[in-house]
Amino acid sequence: MKLMVVIPCYNEEEVLPETAKRFAAKMKSLVGQSLCSEDSRVLLVDDGSRDRTWEIISALHKENPLFEGLKLSRNYGHQNALFAGLMTARNRYDACISMDADLQDDMDAIDLLIKEYQDGCDVVYGVKNKRKSDSFFKRNTARFFYKLMKGLGVDITFNHADFRLMSRRALNGLASFKEVNLFLRGLAPLVGFQRGYVYYDIRERFAGMSKYPLRKMISFAINGITSFSVKPLRLITGTGVVVFLVSLIMLIYTLVAWLSGNTVSGWASIQASNWMLGGIQLLSLGIIGEYVGKIYSETKHRPRCIIDRYLNGENACPVVDE
Ligand code: UDP
Ligand code: MG
Repeated sequence: MKLMVVIPCYNEEEVLPETAKRFAAKMKSLVGQSLCSEDSRVLLVDDGSRDRTWEIISALHKENPLFEGLKLSRNYGHQNALFAGLMTARNRYDACISMDADLQDDMDAIDLLIKEYQDGCDVVYGVKNKRKSDSFFKRNTARFFYKLMKGLGVDITFNHADFRLMSRRALNGLASFKEVNLFLRGLAPLVGFQRGYVYYDIRERFAGMSKYPLRKMISFAINGITSFSVKPLRLITGTGVVVFLVSLIMLIYTLVAWLSGNTVSGWASIQASNWMLGGIQLLSLGIIGEYVGKIYSETKHRPRCIIDRYLNGENACPVVDE
């Protein structure tokens, strides 16, 4: 099996040398066990880093043909960088495994991913067992997010990030999704085919800081929700119906009060309903706005990424958007 491991890297100069060293050893052992063929490769995707990441990747490629390098023209974000790598490899490799550069995912789980592939699975999900090394905050916000997605009816695997094996035909399936706002862990199940799961323990980041600050995490979560569920819109409709029913009751109450001459000034009730209704309306508008914004960005059909350079041994041209 000809395997490509795709690793998106954004300002990862601190971890890359170590990551490369471990991958060189890992790939050797995989070839030794006949789990993948000798012409398997590791594709390091530089997502517009500002540090020495690309220099390191170029040097690695020069030293060892195992490493290929793909440089994007600017920072496009983790999902787009990963997608660029997968699409570049998809027609020349039997399967791709996506992994982060920071060594948080267990490398030894790669063997298990490949075994599941050999047993006939086209998409194999790496699932985090416990998240002890994640902070309390990250662990719990992540749990809330997965629960919320499930509640909204999205087919998503609990505690699966982007450590995943996809076969060539699964990747070709993925290529036919044309959305620009990528949320790969939601798209993979939509591709279908037989699934497999591999469980592993997550580690701490080897070095450097997380490239996902809270702001990016929130926008990633909102993107996931609005890309895969319209339930929030229905919720607004539901709220509208309830508020309308309450308003009918209030109307009757007001009329009765007026007819019985009982209309003393009701500052508190007016104040409360003003704020309540105003709040509900603004929130609803905001949610609708999220979807309108998404339509706006999708209809522009901007490219998902632009490639600057591709270092590989085969002189292959990267094709990301067809
Ligand atoms: N990453 C990327 N582009 C970005 C942000 C992150 O390619 O704009 C890469 C990063 O180099 C790493 C992976 O995505 O390989 C996951 O990022 P990180 O480990 O910082 O996220 P966390 O594990 O903290 O969620
Ligand atoms: Mg990480």
